[in-house]
Amino acid sequence: MFELQVEGTFSAAHQVRGYPGDCAGVHGHTYKIEVRIRVEKLDKLGMAMDFRRLKMTLKRILKELDHKNLNKLSFFKKHNATAEWVAVYIFQKMKKKIKSVASITVWEGPNSSVTYHEDGE
Ligand SMILES: [Zn+2]
Repeated sequence: MFELQVEGTFSAAHQVRGYPGDCAGVHGHTYKIEVRIRVEKLDKLGMAMDFRRLKMTLKRILKELDHKNLNKLSFFKKHNATAEWVAVYIFQKMKKKIKSVASITVWEGPNSSVTYHEDGE
C-alpha cells in the first residue's frame, strides 16, 4: 500500500456559533490542509498517482474557500464552521474527483489539527 500526501493552504474567516468564548466572534485563520491518498498498485511509470493531479485538485477546492467567510457558504450554514467540518467538506469535494482519498487533516494553527477519515480507519 502506498500513501501519498500533498499540502495546501488558504486563508478564511469563520466563527463558531454557540462557542462559549472568543471563537464565537468572526476571526481568521490561515488553514493548512493535508490530503492523503492510498493506492495499492503503481502504474506503468511506477507512480501511485501524479502529484500534479493531486495538487491541482486540492488547489481548486481551496480556491473556493480562500478569502471567504466560511459561515456564508451553504455547507457551513448546516454545519458549524469548525476545523472538523472543514475537514469533512474538503474530504467530500476531494472524493468526487479522486476516489482514493484516505484522509484530510486541517491545521487551524501551528499546534492544532484534526484529521477526518471516512470509515474510521
Ligand atoms: Zn477559529
